[in-house]
Amino acid sequence: MLKLFTAVAAACTLSLTACQQGKGANNTADSTVTTTSTTTTTETKTAENKPGKMASNAEIIARKQVPVLCYHQIRDWRASDSKTAKDYIVPIAAFKEKMKMLADSGYHTVLPDQLYNYLTTGAVLPSKPIMLTFDDTDLDQFTIANPELKKYGFKGVYFIMTVSIGRPHYMNKEQIKQLSDEGNVIGSHTWDHHNFKKFAGKDWETQIDKPTKKLEEITGKKIDYFAYPFGLWNAQGLPELHKRGFKMAFQLAEKRDANDPLMTVRRILDSGYWSAKTLSNSIRNSF
Ligand SMILES: [Zn+2]
Repeated sequence: MLKLFTAVAAACTLSLTACQQGKGANNTADSTVTTTSTTTTTETKTAENKPGKMASNAEIIARKQVPVLCYHQIRDWRASDSKTAKDYIVPIAAFKEKMKMLADSGYHTVLPDQLYNYLTTGAVLPSKPIMLTFDDTDLDQFTIANPELKKYGFKGVYFIMTVSIGRPHYMNKEQIKQLSDEGNVIGSHTWDHHNFKKFAGKDWETQIDKPTKKLEEITGKKIDYFAYPFGLWNAQGLPELHKRGFKMAFQLAEKRDANDPLMTVRRILDSGYWSAKTLSNSIRNSF
């Protein structure tokens, strides 16, 4: 048990390093497309002239990207937190300020189904759409972040590493179910945070199939979305996600795969060092 927990802690530490790599690419948005003005309307309405027709990969790449933010821990810094770790730990007051900034700036949170419909069929999104995602199952995402999101009518996406469920400082089944019941989306973040690029043989079952089943049991809903541990992916692995019925997968800020943009959706890490103003600029510059 303890050994397992140590493994998870190690995985998380590794995760910090990997996320750090992704962060450097924040400003290298891979698509600079003419912005079409969006109007506030419902997600079911399709834009343009091809309702129901699935867009090609080139068309998906050509659409303006929706900003997606990635969070880990939401808590105040401790003396023992390393310089690197602080990138992944957003202090509570700063997090509150950032959510308020997003609301005051007119952003509307969107969920993966909305993003998927927008990318594949041109479905119209709310004005200033943004997605808020939370990785690694940390308890403070439930106790601190979720209540803050509720203040503004925001919804989030929680990518769960199933090995951590119910452990100290992580969410339990009931909390995950509550998030899902309240209209947030639960996604998969593997069993114990192994590097997707190294998956082979039985890993697909351990790291993908079993966690999906577990999360579907907890939420009573189909699990359609995945986030890569450390943001790392390789093209060879992507068909495995399609085969298993995933609709989209989220990385960090690297360039998307031109042949599979749905499985390489970009996110930026909102650093613990960033002010609300810095975040606001990064959102505009990175997507
Ligand atoms: Zn992670």
